[in-house]
Amino acid sequence: MPSRRLTIALAGNPNSGKTTIFNAITGTRQKVGNWPGVTVEKKEGIVHKHGYELKIIDLPGTYSLTPFSIEEIIARNYILDESPDVVIDIIDASSLERSLYLATQLRELDCKVIFALNMADIARARGMKIDSKKLSELLDVPVVFTVGNKNEGIDKLLTQAIELAESNRQPQRGRKVKYSKDIEDSILELKRFIELKTDKRLPYDVRWTAIKLLEDDRIVKQRLQEAAGLAGVDIIQLAEKLRAHLADRFDDDPQIIMTDERYGFISGIIKEVLTSTTQQRIDISRSIDLVLTNRFIGFPIFIFFIWAMFQLTFTLGDYPTQLIEAGVNLLSEFVKNLMPETFLKDLLVNGVIAGVGSVVVFLPNILILFFCIAIFEDTGYMARAAFLMDKIMHLIGLHGKSFIPMLMGFGCNVPAIMAARTLESEKDRILTILITPFMSCSAKLPVYIILAGAFFGTRAGTVISSIYLVGIMLSILTGRLFRATLLKGADAPFVMELPPYRAPTIKSLLIHMWDRSRVFLRKMGGIILIGSIVVWVLSSFPRNIQYSIDYKKEINKIKSSYSKLKSKADPSAIRLLESMEADELSKLRMAQRAERAEKSYMGHLGRAIAPVFSPLGIDWRGGVALLTGFVAKEIVVSTIGILHAVKGEAEPEALKNALSAAGMTSLSALAMMIFVLLYLPCLATTTAIRRETGSYKWMFLSIGYSTGIAWLAAFMVYQGGKLLGFT
Ligand code: GDP
Ligand code: MG
Repeated sequence: MPSRRLTIALAGNPNSGKTTIFNAITGTRQKVGNWPGVTVEKKEGIVHKHGYELKIIDLPGTYSLTPFSIEEIIARNYILDESPDVVIDIIDASSLERSLYLATQLRELDCKVIFALNMADIARARGMKIDSKKLSELLDVPVVFTVGNKNEGIDKLLTQAIELAESNRQPQRGRKVKYSKDIEDSILELKRFIELKTDKRLPYDVRWTAIKLLEDDRIVKQRLQEAAGLAGVDIIQLAEKLRAHLADRFDDDPQIIMTDERYGFISGIIKEVLTSTTQQRIDISRSIDLVLTNRFIGFPIFIFFIWAMFQLTFTLGDYPTQLIEAGVNLLSEFVKNLMPETFLKDLLVNGVIAGVGSVVVFLPNILILFFCIAIFEDTGYMARAAFLMDKIMHLIGLHGKSFIPMLMGFGCNVPAIMAARTLESEKDRILTILITPFMSCSAKLPVYIILAGAFFGTRAGTVISSIYLVGIMLSILTGRLFRATLLKGADAPFVMELPPYRAPTIKSLLIHMWDRSRVFLRKMGGIILIGSIVVWVLSSFPRNIQYSIDYKKEINKIKSSYSKLKSKADPSAIRLLESMEADELSKLRMAQRAERAEKSYMGHLGRAIAPVFSPLGIDWRGGVALLTGFVAKEIVVSTIGILHAVKGEAEPEALKNALSAAGMTSLSALAMMIFVLLYLPCLATTTAIRRETGSYKWMFLSIGYSTGIAWLAAFMVYQGGKLLGFT
């Protein structure tokens, strides 16, 4: 039975999957050769399908059909000369916009075209939704989705190709690129002239010929002369005249104008048919960035976010903190009642529970802080922060990219210093590592919370934010200093990436928050536990202390005198007397505790270093606490807890009272916070600095420099504040 023969050509961009689809259709029945006269590979195959003999041609991959490259000329000539029954345009659906240029050119050629939206899997995976029905309508072309390498949609593609070949419908004129009025007028004029001159005997589509002549297509000119002889010369003359006219009108080459307009047409199609979550995200991101990275308001917004983050950390964290406090107290009471009065009980209650307890209460604050940082990171705002900081970072001689490790430093300096690895230039990296410790890490937060909470009340959030800002400012100054001296050189150029904003999932936020909080918890189990025990041992030994007065006797004296008073007093006055008694007793006990701590090893150590800290308004307890902070900054708080409240109260309330009683003022609290902000990095961080810079030199420089700066800054705050009359 003789079958009807059809020729089907496969056109498409390079790498759109033409060969893959060609192979899928033809299987092993392929003939491979070259196109005549050139070394471009030509593949042909014949298959039988639905009673048809199909000759399939794999055209060279092209992006367009201009006469400039050999591949494009081959593909176009084949379509013009061999007039295949159908051209299948293999479109890479994952880069629709680029693929559509060739597609619109094929449509202009007025051959029968069908679109294979190949790589449909990739497009889907990238969140691009293509409305194939709309695309089909807009361009009046059948559209089939395919996944070439999985053989999906190939059968349907062939069936539709055969259908199209057999249909005798005329493609609709309107479904092609429509140019602007001046160009359309010229096309029309030229088209009428061609029809007149050639008596409609031209083998190619007349409109297409007119367009190509206006684009000064040398091959079409040549073909026209071959086909129309002398008439062709007249036509080309008119085309030249029209080209000159258009060039004058647009002040540009008509070919460029027409290319632009094709792209305009394509972007119109894209708007209609492509709903890409990615594209939308990019568009939305651009709008958001107009505000968030705005030259004038971007920075204030950034400051606001940082401020809001600490407000949230401070106020929201208060509720769970109180719960944990109550829990710690309960545990402490439980152990106290359970165990006999021994050395071990003292260690457990006043060492372990008091020490670890005074830190664990900050877990909520730290969780919230890390949660906020996770939001910044996961939404893409972190990159904007880097962008905003770029200008400021250039003041230091670094670029915005260095700000990401620095921002991470707010969480923990160790991963932050490791994050500096992403910087290409060695000097940039070292400089970033050296200034990162000034980014106040979350371990310092408990110190601020205690001190600011105690001495600044409702303004605590603002004070803490300012502390952080001081850290940022000092890192900038330090950067400048080092850039000008030790690490001379220009910063390496780089491109700032701004990923699209995305709404983070709660799950990923929680995971990121937890990943980092785990480090905090692990520290609590290890370093802080050990540190607390060491601090307790130092502050509880020697055991038998010669007190300056006999506290027991004094206490009994007070008790007996009050019981005498109470027995004589009016019933209404009993309350008052009781509270007065409690007051006096607690004052006495506090004095005993203070004396005991003073006469412990810790006290000796503290007194030895006290001269260093007294100009800063920090007493020997503060000095010791700062010393122990080298192990881990969280220990500063637990040391303060142990030194001031040997009875094991873990709640900040008690610490506050004790601190005030020990002579701390809001000014010295501020000086202490500044010192904590700036002084030597913790053990883990110094180790990281040594590891990442590869030398002890930078590590010791960091330790010495930061501690020196901390002392100077705290000195200036305290002494300066005193001069100005603050307390
Ligand atoms: P050509 O340059 O147009 O001939 O493209 P090829 O047929 O050589 O294909 C380029 C690459 O894309 C090959 O690695 C194919 O396996 C792959 N490919 C082709 N079609 C698809 C598809 O639909 N989905 C995916 N994921 N890959 C494809
Ligand atoms: Mg190929």
